[in-house]
Amino acid sequence: MQEILAKILAKYSPTEAETIQKAYTFAEQAHTDQKRDSDEDYITHPLAVAQILTDFNMDHETVAAGLLHDALEESNYKIETIEKEFGPKISFLVQSVTKLHRVSYSGEKGFIENFHKMILATAKDIRVVLIKLADRLHNLETLDTFKGNKERIAREALEVYAPLASRLGMGELKGIMEDYAFPYVYPEEYKNLLDFVKDQIAENKKYAERIKPAVEKILKENNIRYIRLSARAKHLYSLWRKLQKYEFNLERMYDLVALRVIVPDIVSCYETLGVLHKYWQPLPNRIKDYIALPKPNGYQSLHTTVFCEEGKITEFQIRTEEMNKNADYGIAAHWSYKESKNPIAKKYSWLHQLSEWQNQDLNSEDFWENAKIDFFKDRIFVYTPRGDVIELPEEATPLDFAYAIHSDLGDKCIQAKVNGKIMGITHTLNDGDIIEVVTGKNQKPSQDWLRFIKTSKARTKIKERLRLIG
Ligand code: MN
Repeated sequence: MQEILAKILAKYSPTEAETIQKAYTFAEQAHTDQKRDSDEDYITHPLAVAQILTDFNMDHETVAAGLLHDALEESNYKIETIEKEFGPKISFLVQSVTKLHRVSYSGEKGFIENFHKMILATAKDIRVVLIKLADRLHNLETLDTFKGNKERIAREALEVYAPLASRLGMGELKGIMEDYAFPYVYPEEYKNLLDFVKDQIAENKKYAERIKPAVEKILKENNIRYIRLSARAKHLYSLWRKLQKYEFNLERMYDLVALRVIVPDIVSCYETLGVLHKYWQPLPNRIKDYIALPKPNGYQSLHTTVFCEEGKITEFQIRTEEMNKNADYGIAAHWSYKESKNPIAKKYSWLHQLSEWQNQDLNSEDFWENAKIDFFKDRIFVYTPRGDVIELPEEATPLDFAYAIHSDLGDKCIQAKVNGKIMGITHTLNDGDIIEVVTGKNQKPSQDWLRFIKTSKARTKIKERLRLIG
């Protein structure tokens, strides 16, 4: 245990380390004689949480608060004591995390309230949620020895924490949490999936290792400066979700094992793509430029799928070291205590949206309704005829598109030209569609529209209009 602590302390300045050390001593005291379900000393848990937060590169206040995060719940200490010992910032973090704990899962309603609180905490200070995510990650890691309701913990991970991590751009964390939770929520499906894919994954991994020298040779011959080349297997839960979409056709899972090329700068990303395409023919429609068009959670990378060595279809992911770090740590990679209160809000438009909802004083249920559409859905990018990009949730309709541009356009929308073809307002849009809204002078919003629109913006506007008309 001292070893883990020493490793954490080494990453901070002497005064910061002093605070962390003090928090450790305090937590050890608070949890004296307490055991986890695994029969380990309780302090192993807050220590593991602190270590995860250190891996996220969080500041010393967050790490100290991570050590103290269960001290109020599990002991007789009062928040005043923590404030006196550690100052207002750390005690704010500890208190906020403790509050999130206290609303326990009690059916849909308790869950919604808890979620609402968590989102409000995110908007206030992102560090609270990062502590909570680190806490959950360690609970999932040790779920096999947990004596309470394992399925509940696992289900919350799938329904709340993993999507939250994803929206914060923490892709790796999302994948890890889902894979821990998967066997507890869907035991049968998990077993079947493993039987179904394990040979294929092993084979693809061997293949990736086998062709690495050939790829490296080509990169070197073409003077591409790359930092490293690695093979990455897809996380099981996301693979399962994807397989459901493709009727369990493994042949079409080109990214079962992908090759990742890390290069020093953006120009090298495109150069690498060019070189790969020179030697191996790309599959049409599988080239994704998330550098020019990052995903809403900030994810950046180039993806391409090519007919590679031995005629096998292989996905490549090309990115800089910084993009790679962002893909793993997301918001935590950007978070810096030197910046002002909420510097990342600009980068994350949905965070901005959340604070708007907060200002509208929505009750928990309306908040949840909005969150379900705007927060948990995957996103697509579509275009106006002039080439402006509009970001929408998956399964959005031309009507959502019209309302995203202007509410008057939404009100008058009767159909839309999607890639030149006339489509009805209930049509499902796809990534990359070019859309031209067709309006009718006498068109007006109807109650019916609420049944198929997919964005909270359209929903709010339609409701507003119906009230005026009604
Ligand atoms: Mn905990």
